[in-house]
Amino acid sequence: MDNKFPGKDISDEDLKSKFPLAAKKNKDHKSKFTISGVEFGGNTIPIFAGPNMVESKELILDVAKNVKSSGAHFLRGGAFKPLTFPYRNSKYNETREDGIKWLAEAKAKYNIPIITEIMEEKYLDLISNVADILQIGSRNMQNYPLITACAKTKKPIMIKRHYGSSLRDWLGAAEYVLIEGNEKVILCERGVSVPHTHRSTSRFLLDLQVVPAAKEITHLPIVVDPSHATFWRPWVRPMALASIASGADGIMLEVHPDPENSAVDPLQPIDYSEFKKLMVEMNNISKQINNREILSD
Ligand code: PEP
Ligand code: MN
Repeated sequence: MDNKFPGKDISDEDLKSKFPLAAKKNKDHKSKFTISGVEFGGNTIPIFAGPNMVESKELILDVAKNVKSSGAHFLRGGAFKPLTFPYRNSKYNETREDGIKWLAEAKAKYNIPIITEIMEEKYLDLISNVADILQIGSRNMQNYPLITACAKTKKPIMIKRHYGSSLRDWLGAAEYVLIEGNEKVILCERGVSVPHTHRSTSRFLLDLQVVPAAKEITHLPIVVDPSHATFWRPWVRPMALASIASGADGIMLEVHPDPENSAVDPLQPIDYSEFKKLMVEMNNISKQINNREILSD
């Protein structure tokens, strides 16, 4: 593998000694695995959709029904949430054990697998009983004891890139899962933080360049989350389409029936009809330029 481009912070030595398991063994090496009947790294591009937070039973059941009927492969939603500020009210509050129970109900009723975040090891049994994929949030990307405990369950794990981390550090986190013999690891780009002087657009900057960059180095599937990256509804569609064009192996989208009244980050979710339309557009682009499908006929 030619890794001599001077802009890269990953050396050939790193590939062998820092992340021998996450690194590709040859140019065409690409992981392919199935999670709850959905193939990753193959000809399908799985879509994770749902609210930021599992706000109520009614909400999560309604979202599950709607995103499933538009073709989503996984239902997303946090019951345990890393909220940036500690102040809580009846709306802005985690639903924790209740939220996990409601996710289980949505999964059973609509036959849709679940991805949800874990923040503390003490909830591992509770969450892994319901989750088909354990989400390590960006803020815990370097919480190695948590990652190791999750990896030992052999449950599939998605690691969101911390908004200040390099590709090198992100792959280091993935290596912590792989070294436990757990091969179902997915990486998720969700926007990086840029200095204030460059912050002409939004809270985060979607680093789409990291998709082809990561693919030069790792065989693991790369998901992109344009909702958290843009933090702004009107930009989710163009960036989701650009993510498909960049070669993403999956897309995570925030979807809410009444986006402006989302309990958390109300500027970023799209509604049901926007999601439905976007699924068709992503499918068209993907078929055209990647020969990969989102919606099965
Ligand atoms: C989320 O996906 O709910 C989330 C909190 O994302 P991130 O860790 O990327 O901020
Ligand atoms: Mn968020």
